[in-house]
Amino acid sequence: PPPAEKFEYQAEVSRLMDLIVNSLYSNKEVFLRELISNASDALDKLRYLSVTDPDLSKDAADLDIRIYADKENGIITLTDSGIGMTRQELVDCLGTIAQSGTAKFMKALKDSKDAGGDNNLIGQFGVGFYSAFLVADRVIVSTKSPNSDKQYVWEGEANSSSFTIQEETDPQSLIPRGTRITLHLKRDDKNFADPERIQKLVKNYSQFVSFPIYTWQEKGYTKEVDVDDDPTETKKDDQDDQDDQTEKKKKTKKVVERYWDWELTNETQPIWLRNTKEVTTEEYNEFYRKAFNEYLDPLASSHFTTEGEVEFRSILYVPPVSPMGKDDVVNQKTKNIRLYVKRVFISDDFDGELFPRYLSFVKGVVDSHDLPLNVSREILQESRIVRIMKKRLVRKAFDMILGISLSENREDYEKFWDNFGKHLKLGCIEDRENHKRIAPLLRFFSSQSENDMISLDEYVENMKPEQKAIYYIASDSITSAKNAPFLEKILEKELEVLYLVEPIDEVAIQSLKSYKEKDFVDISKEDLDLGDKNEEKEAAVKKEFGQTCDWIKKRLGDKVASVQISNRLSSSPCVLVSGKFGWSANMERLMKAQSA
Ligand code: ADP
Ligand code: MG
Repeated sequence: PPPAEKFEYQAEVSRLMDLIVNSLYSNKEVFLRELISNASDALDKLRYLSVTDPDLSKDAADLDIRIYADKENGIITLTDSGIGMTRQELVDCLGTIAQSGTAKFMKALKDSKDAGGDNNLIGQFGVGFYSAFLVADRVIVSTKSPNSDKQYVWEGEANSSSFTIQEETDPQSLIPRGTRITLHLKRDDKNFADPERIQKLVKNYSQFVSFPIYTWQEKGYTKEVDVDDDPTETKKDDQDDQDDQTEKKKKTKKVVERYWDWELTNETQPIWLRNTKEVTTEEYNEFYRKAFNEYLDPLASSHFTTEGEVEFRSILYVPPVSPMGKDDVVNQKTKNIRLYVKRVFISDDFDGELFPRYLSFVKGVVDSHDLPLNVSREILQESRIVRIMKKRLVRKAFDMILGISLSENREDYEKFWDNFGKHLKLGCIEDRENHKRIAPLLRFFSSQSENDMISLDEYVENMKPEQKAIYYIASDSITSAKNAPFLEKILEKELEVLYLVEPIDEVAIQSLKSYKEKDFVDISKEDLDLGDKNEEKEAAVKKEFGQTCDWIKKRLGDKVASVQISNRLSSSPCVLVSGKFGWSANMERLMKAQSA
């Protein structure tokens, strides 16, 4: 066979490996979780592809992960029967850093460095394949893809900027398909190669992996051996009344016979298939953290089954924080929903098919009974089943969010709103059909509540008996909203006014149009009717000041559309307002900002 070929890592990989080794030392054991998660991904890929191409899995039917710990030599071997890698994939995947887990790690590392550095926190993140070098000074990856005739061996060492690839030559190491990773542990980390320790780590880190994980364990069974040629024992026993069992005992003794074998170490029943009554909150949270590689618990979760027209099971979660911080682009694509069909992982790459984009922050798993296993993007987009699923998922998501808002702990919803309020406002604009579900979840500051946001329900409850509309003013801050002259008369009447201070607020409210049959009314527009019109008085005032108005209009010319007498001020002499059908001043500001 051709000799081993040498490759240099992409520069970022070398840097990453330095970082991993130097900042994760307190959390080394994550290496096992990372390697198992890669094995599980590889098995997922194989299972998915062999739905349409059964030949792919013909050479080895069992989809599993096997971990062998050689205590004496300090070696751990982890084998999966997944999709494996071709030679080119080895170069691409294990030499560069385009992968999700590692990218996320780099970001977390940077964030936590910016925040003063917390190594423990970093340890919670996925660091991917390279975490093998946390414990190993030599890593060997022998892998066989069904798309390649040959099996290849990747080999790398800690503190080296290069790796090698060559064909597998050892006949003992040939596998029909999949990947075998061999870790030669560092001197100080050899104690990881302990079957009991490995078993504990698997139970702790990988209990939600849906493929069986076997570990090589020492076992024992008790065997009875004859001892009836022992005369003293027989004699002693003969003195008592005997039942059948002791009769037997006196002739045999129990011996424990030791042997080694593969032992199933994880629970392979997916959590979403379990009975909702039997799963604890801690288990849901743990599944969330493990399935989505998160380190904080979710704000809320919802596990449900739908039956009838379409059948599926799902667990949905509201994350505790927005992944990109509060400034994230609301309408972005995520990989937050993992779709399974009859337990087979299909895809997590969706663009509005299962959730509208504005709800893309919701995470979860969905397992459908009705979709075909070889479901394609086109099928997803056109399927009636998917449309029904989407409808139900969205409702459940809103129920879950409503649940947070009703929680005793007010802070939970404040946290939610802080992170995802913008998403819901976008929902007002994009999803007319769900206005009824979104509106009660909205929160705004108001003239009577400048520090704590209120809901529209709270506003409506606080309305004056004669009040017909919900008043709002859009502005760029609470302070400028408060000082708007339009407010004077309204505040005098002790009517509450919502302060819309986020750019998106006004459009959202205008999309809603009304809440509980009360129209939203912009107090900065002309014609504001506070229900106190006194026609006679108005006519008199108009008569008196009509000419003054004409004169001002003449002086200002095109700068204003008209000059009118108003009853909405109490102490300011005049105010600039927007026309009834024109843009509000705030909207104009927005439009200007966008076209700039
Ligand atoms: P991530 O899992 O986030 O993609 P990793 O660093 O863990 O990042 O893995 C890098 C890539 O190497 C994977 O995306 C996959 O393509 C490949 N890989 C790693 N382990 C295996 C494996 N056991 N079988 C097949 N491919 C693997
Ligand atoms: Mg990975």
